This record gives sequence, C-alpha cells and structure tokens, in this order.
Amino acid sequence: MQEKDFNTSYEPSWCPGCGNFGIFIALKNALVELGLKPDNVLLVAGIGCSGNGVNFLKAYGWHSLHGRALPTAVGAKLANQNMTVIVMAGDGDSYGEGMAHFIHAVRGNANITYITHDNSLYSLTTGQSAPTTDKGTRTKSTPDGLIEVRANPMSLALSAGGGFVSRGFSGQADHLTSLIKKAINHEGFSLVDVFQPCVTFNKINTFKYYLDRLYNLDEQSNYKANNLEAAHKEALVWGNKIPYGLFYQDKRRSYGDHLPQLKGQPLAKRPVKVRNIDQLTREFA
Ligand code: SF4
Repeated sequence: MQEKDFNTSYEPSWCPGCGNFGIFIALKNALVELGLKPDNVLLVAGIGCSGNGVNFLKAYGWHSLHGRALPTAVGAKLANQNMTVIVMAGDGDSYGEGMAHFIHAVRGNANITYITHDNSLYSLTTGQSAPTTDKGTRTKSTPDGLIEVRANPMSLALSAGGGFVSRGFSGQADHLTSLIKKAINHEGFSLVDVFQPCVTFNKINTFKYYLDRLYNLDEQSNYKANNLEAAHKEALVWGNKIPYGLFYQDKRRSYGDHLPQLKGQPLAKRPVKVRNIDQLTREFA
C-alpha cells in the first residue's frame, strides 16, 4: 500500500495551514507503514473540524453524534475484532460532550486508538472556549476570561488506568507517525492527544507557541515510559515548558480479550439464526 491508496476523491476542506493536515499526513503514513489496507480500517469521527476527515481518508467511516464517537467505536470493535478501529475527535468532543465516555473507555481498555485533535477551542463553531482552553483566556464565549481551569487529558487518562497515554504535535509529522504506529500496535485503549493549532481562531496556541515550549519525552534517556509515578509528574508540567511523546505504556488485557464469546469468527461475520421471537421473549422474561 502507498499513501495515495488511502486518498479519496475529496480534497480536505480545512483552512490553509490548519493543524489537521499534519495529523492526517501522519495517520496515512502510519497506516501505510503498518501494512494496513483501507478495508482493514474503520475511522470513527466526532463532531468538529476534524470530523469530516472520514471523507478524506479511504477506509470504512462513521461520523458519529457529538461526544459519541467512543461508544460507537467500542461497539464496532466488539462486533469485529479483526478491524483496526481509530477514532478522530476534537478536544471539545473528547473532553466536553464526550468526557464520561472518555473516562470509561480508558477504564474499559477496548482495543482502539483515540486521536484527539486538541486545538483548545471549539473551532467548527468559530472559536468558543473548550475544556482544554487555559484559565483566563478570552474567547467569543468568555469575553472576560475563562473561569474554569484547563482539563488535563494526560492526568485524566493516567488516573483512569490508561495503558497507552501519549501526546503528539501536528507540526512534527514524523514523530506523530511513529506515535500513531505504536498506538495502533498497542493491545488496548491508546490515547494520542495531538496539539493541533487552529490557525484561524486560536491566536495563542499557535505552531510557534508549541515549538517554543515542547520537549520530547521520547528523547530523554532518563525517562522510562513504564513508570506511572514519573508519568503523573510529567502530566502536570504546563506553562513555559510542555512535555510530549509517550508518557506511559503498560500492558493489561483488553476489554474484548476478557470475553470468550468473541473468540473465533468476529460477531459481524457469524450467520444470524432467526429464532422464534415469542420463545426468545419468554427466555428473557
Ligand atoms: Fe482548522 Fe481552525 Fe480552520 Fe477548523 S477553523 S479547519 S480547526 S484552522
């Protein structure tokens, strides 16, 4: 497979320079380098600028309701465990409308990859504050400055028992490609929260903002991604310096691996036996 094999007839409609482009380049590269084929992959999108990505990447696609991408993806994975299931959702969709789903999906450890397009705003609706907007930021919806503190996806995922917790940057497609490959190969729930500058509405969290602050945990010889305490400490670093890379990886059995009824042929491929509905109702009564 080549990168072009994942192209569709649609051109991305994002604003020129949008951070979404870097994520899609990295995702396509990762799929090619892993030897996956379009009919092996299901892309589930949330609502947000990233959501129309299902039209730009040739694979199975599902554009879910706002905040509901995760339960859709978990259900799809249970129905067909042979499918590589990847979720793309914005920070509002992930940590606002979908926050409860996020926490419980991390706890459940379904074998899916969650790529968050984190631009610290609701950008599709032209720039309101989102859960990852910094306290005090003035936006269209917070003209006097945001009252709430910023949600911390790394800390939340680690506290919920996340087995693969990572952060990428859409301005570094090679590193992001490698991170997404590791996330897809991880047996269990994998989070890749990606700083994705919105060049149109966010004039604070720009590419330069991140380039001036980011340091790569993967390049630190004394940082070990199997140390939960160290991961929690790094997750709290925010301000003039911001860590990215693989914070934590641990192996525990995935949700589907606990279910003997999923062994063998995927549920979606098994023949449906039509049974007497009256008898079925009595059995469940
Ligand atoms: Fe990207 Fe922002 Fe444009 Fe949306 S509004 S496509 S996030 S630059």
